[in-house]
Amino acid sequence: MEERPKLALIDADFLVYRVGFSCKDETEQIAKARLTEMLTDMVYIELKCEDYEAFITGKTNFRFGIATTHPYKGNRKDTEKPPHYEALRHHLQRLEAKMSDNQEADDDVAIASTKYIGWIVHVDKDLDQLPGWHYNPVKKEEYFVTEEEGLRSFYTQLLTGDRVDNIIGLHGIGPVKAKKLLAKATTEQDMYQAVTKAYDLAGEPPERVLENGQLLWLSRHEDSAGSLLMKRSSFNDGEWTAAKFRSFVTGALRTATRRWPPKYKALKEALVGRQVNKKTGKQAMHYRCAACSEEFVSNDVQVDHTSPAVDPAKGFVSWDVYVDRLFCEASNLQVLCLPCHKTKTAAEKLLRKKK
Ligand SMILES: [Zn+2]
Repeated sequence: MEERPKLALIDADFLVYRVGFSCKDETEQIAKARLTEMLTDMVYIELKCEDYEAFITGKTNFRFGIATTHPYKGNRKDTEKPPHYEALRHHLQRLEAKMSDNQEADDDVAIASTKYIGWIVHVDKDLDQLPGWHYNPVKKEEYFVTEEEGLRSFYTQLLTGDRVDNIIGLHGIGPVKAKKLLAKATTEQDMYQAVTKAYDLAGEPPERVLENGQLLWLSRHEDSAGSLLMKRSSFNDGEWTAAKFRSFVTGALRTATRRWPPKYKALKEALVGRQVNKKTGKQAMHYRCAACSEEFVSNDVQVDHTSPAVDPAKGFVSWDVYVDRLFCEASNLQVLCLPCHKTKTAAEKLLRKKK
């Protein structure tokens, strides 16, 4: 294995709790000193690192808007804050910890872990979905998570849920049963299929897989996949899910493609000329279908994206990618007759479903 990383990426929320509760009979000054000591011991002595990046969770969190069936952290309402809570958080910021904005400290740790090679320092199972070097500062345990183990950990949590954050998994499925359900799966596709199947058998709708997945999956990039969908906390005052909002916006954008000039270029290229419409006996413009090469009137053809706006193999990636592919140049557009268009979209749909 590679050389030990020299940087520590710390989910620092636990420090506030640990130091706070252990210093309940101490002054604020002593509590702060203990925090500094714990942090520096961990970074420079235990891990022998040269530097660290620490993150603490701010006051807002997109996940509150996503959890519709069970309130996110709904069971934590009465959780006791440790003594010196605000003072210790403030002190951590003086020690250069960054306050997360609309997400949690572990999301920031996840993003940092994709940019730098460093120890992922945490006491929370959630972070085991991240591949790389891990350090549990309470158990003083070092371990390495591979890409596959990281995914397995995420899909296991989808099945079991996460009691700490009030994310409800499947009834009666604990770590042992989850392990069994995922035993044969080696790729992410296999794991995803095993999980959706288990939800289906338990009578849970597929939206619950999506909801729990969004709650459990840690952000990996600042402008990642559905950043807007993931970060925004409410759609239509919470009456809409992120998925409904996405289909609303994609629908509106699709409508706009009717006025997208390259579409007319594609039509012009397929134009055969004016000839008699066999159905009506009248003269009409005819266009050639790129698939069957037959000629049709304008009402019987569709301008089709040769590579669809949403790549059926990848699914929705991001708004940038969607807009780029939807408003593509004429070279990616073709004219198809209605039956040929129907066949092509059905094939794409099937490919998406298989995913
Ligand atoms: Zn055709």
